[in-house]
Amino acid sequence: MMGGRTAKRGRAWRFLLDILYPRKCPVCDRIIMPKGALICPPCRGRISFIREPRCKKCGKALMFEEKEYCENCNGQERRFMYGLALMEYDSVARKILADLKYHGKRDNADYVAAEMALRLGDEIRRVKPDVLIPVPVHPRRRRLRGFNQAELLAKGLGERMDIPVRTEALIRVRNTRPQKELGSLGRLNNLLEAFTVRRWDPRWKTVWLVDDIYTTGSTVEACTRILLTAGAKRVYVVCAAIGKDR
Ligand SMILES: [Zn+2]
Ligand SMILES: [Zn+2]
Repeated sequence: MMGGRTAKRGRAWRFLLDILYPRKCPVCDRIIMPKGALICPPCRGRISFIREPRCKKCGKALMFEEKEYCENCNGQERRFMYGLALMEYDSVARKILADLKYHGKRDNADYVAAEMALRLGDEIRRVKPDVLIPVPVHPRRRRLRGFNQAELLAKGLGERMDIPVRTEALIRVRNTRPQKELGSLGRLNNLLEAFTVRRWDPRWKTVWLVDDIYTTGSTVEACTRILLTAGAKRVYVVCAAIGKDR
């Protein structure tokens, strides 16, 4: 009930904002026509939405039907159940997410969350999630940027799907050393020390972790392991964008 009222107020507010500051397209930056849309239709056609065949673990698009897992997931231990991703991390997706993250274009999160709800909503709901948890950034980074992009995505998704979002459950306590020179195990160990659970409700059994970009998967894997230790039973991962299978 509360969620509905907040959502309604959000929409009324959005309507006013749209009149004062017409929405700009996340792809071409021009004012969106038709009014009320979150992206211009031709630009939407430029996004590479993930389609089948997909990696059964991380959700990455695969080149061949015969493969079950992508090269990155093959032979790796993954504790999360599986992942879903909205779009391929190509130049269009990169622009949408970089404008959000580095240029504060929050409308982009709104568009991406709406598209996630539309395209992945059924799959997200199918596992009967108790809660959505965004991958946290370090509080210092959050202060500097003014927001955490994964949190904006989780909130947009949660509001649209009526699933609670808990941003205080998982926190980032440490910024990690540069990860590039580390192998996957080193990367994971490094990350396991970066996150911790702050507040946990034992009723949270099925969780969707929400993040913006899935690269090696080490971040969500580390978060998954920490949530499982805290008492989650099943952790799933949903990301806005994911790389290509090699
Ligand atoms: Zn456009
Ligand atoms: Zn994979």
